[in-house]
Amino acid sequence: MFIVANWKMNLSIKDSIALAKEYGKLFKKSSANIVVCPSFTSLPFVCKMLESLPVAVGAQDVFWEKAGAFTGEISAEDLKELGAEYVIIGHSERREYLGEEDWMIRRKIEAAFTTRNLTPILCIGESAEDHERDEREEVLSRQLSEALDGLSLGIGQSLIIAYEPIWAIGTGLVPEPEEIAYVTDVIRVLLRRYFGDRSDRACAVLYGGSIDESTVVPLMESGVDGFLVGSASLKAREFYRLAERVIN
Ligand code: PEP
Repeated sequence: MFIVANWKMNLSIKDSIALAKEYGKLFKKSSANIVVCPSFTSLPFVCKMLESLPVAVGAQDVFWEKAGAFTGEISAEDLKELGAEYVIIGHSERREYLGEEDWMIRRKIEAAFTTRNLTPILCIGESAEDHERDEREEVLSRQLSEALDGLSLGIGQSLIIAYEPIWAIGTGLVPEPEEIAYVTDVIRVLLRRYFGDRSDRACAVLYGGSIDESTVVPLMESGVDGFLVGSASLKAREFYRLAERVIN
């Protein structure tokens, strides 16, 4: 099981270090894959703080080129050098506020795939309008096919897909467990189409959107491989209780 904490742009460097310290105390041992994604500026400090603990670190974005005149961008190799093992790609907030498009997301996934031991966490999800128009499957299938077009899974390469309906992020609304189970199956079928049967071992499908220690409980039966957690990851004890529910 994966439990990924997305701290977004919520914490100062000082606060990120303090929260990572609390995570470190609580997650001395864990049977789940706990991944913490701080901001770029906090990343080196959080990596250092958690380096000998069973909590992995991820970045919230990456650029697709290795180096060059790309002001403000960060390469996959730089993330690796700092100690990041995961990177969130295509979060709906970046799609909405930064104009991130599927072709960019595809290049970012490729950059992660060509960097050893850097696993992309690809976020996909329909908007409220798509949902009302009953176009969820078309949207998810398009987002997946454009992000993965022509890519292959190398030996030892993994991919995490986070299904995050935009209408569920930060709203307190959560789809029914049966809906999440259905979408998870649809995503797994599509992944098999792109990567063959290897995808069953190499890919994980998570759910994200308004998960906390109580909303997670009914979703344990939905067949997902874990959860991507936003606001409930900003308090160490709350996140730990949530993780305990998932693990036990
Ligand atoms: C997210 O933005 O990835 C997310 C899951 O946020 P929240 O848990 O706050 O809905």
